[in-house]
Amino acid sequence: TKRIAVLTSGGDAPGMNSAIRAITLSALRSGFQCFGFFHGYNGLINQEYTELSAVSVTDITQLGGTILKSARCPAMLEPAGVLQAANALRKLHIDVLIVIGGDGSFRGMQALAAHWQGQLIGIPGTIDNDLSGCDNTIGFSTAINTATSAIDKIRDTANAFERVFITEVMGRHNGHIAYHVGIATGAEAIISFENCTAENTSQVLAHLKNAIEQQHQHGSFLIILAENLWPGGAQALKTELNSNADINCALCVLGHIQRGGAPSVEDRMLATELGIAAVEVVNGSIKANTEVATPVMVGKIHGAIVITEVEKVLNMDKPVSQEWVQRYQHYLAEQ
Ligand code: ATP
Repeated sequence: TKRIAVLTSGGDAPGMNSAIRAITLSALRSGFQCFGFFHGYNGLINQEYTELSAVSVTDITQLGGTILKSARCPAMLEPAGVLQAANALRKLHIDVLIVIGGDGSFRGMQALAAHWQGQLIGIPGTIDNDLSGCDNTIGFSTAINTATSAIDKIRDTANAFERVFITEVMGRHNGHIAYHVGIATGAEAIISFENCTAENTSQVLAHLKNAIEQQHQHGSFLIILAENLWPGGAQALKTELNSNADINCALCVLGHIQRGGAPSVEDRMLATELGIAAVEVVNGSIKANTEVATPVMVGKIHGAIVITEVEKVLNMDKPVSQEWVQRYQHYLAEQ
């Protein structure tokens, strides 16, 4: 019987628990044993784990966060840490490691593959939706729903006071969250990696000033800003609008509420399907088409399960479509 282990790593994402549940139940049904390492790669290195049973995954699919806990694990960035992790897998006779996480967590799988011959399978779990090889990552749907309902509330108070409002949303490297919630809330401006770079901030500021002056006679003007983008952050943008254009803005950084909460139906379904698919790769119902030691990721593209080598996933960008960015700018100009 095979011994399958699972861990959740990097930023937690709603739906991770549904994936853990699906992996556990499918593994048990296939006659495998299933184990969970705690605290991301830390639990692997420290051999902090539990055997997962049907009882351990009862009543977890509706919970945000992850019952296995998540963490960053700096030790994995050092060769010694990777060796310790590989040795732990050998010592515990693990045949398959399933990692639920984002791009950093997948780099951890690649590092392990050089020192361990077992099977490595990734499941895309991050609210940022920044992984190729899948239409959506687990957690993205819940995060954009959470941000949208928060910004709808901001709209009410912004309308009441006829305010310009900057709301900063998550998304470390791209604007999947910013564009989805910007469009869903009818924001008047979206400032994200796709239309703003370090070189054109003064141009963006000038456009913003014009747009606010033309459109903000009555009601509110909502600006959605992607995190880690504006030099000095959202507060700096607020200060610049004030000092350069005499525009007073209110400011809200949504922050970690975007990572929490009960997973949406879409995330629960996606996570369940991907968890089952990962075990099907192990039991051979789905053919991975690669060497066993090559890490792969299971994802869903246009409704179908797709297996992609992790190396390809990491080498391919998944940008917000430029066509979409252009169309949205055009649409805003019409308002
Ligand atoms: P998210 O983007 O949602 O935060 P993530 O998986 O990208 O998720 P990271 O913090 O980048 O989050 O990575 C999680 C963990 O993966 C790291 O703490 C580290 O243990 C491991 N990891 C990241 N990069 C590497 C690497 N180059 N080599 C080995 N391990 C890595």
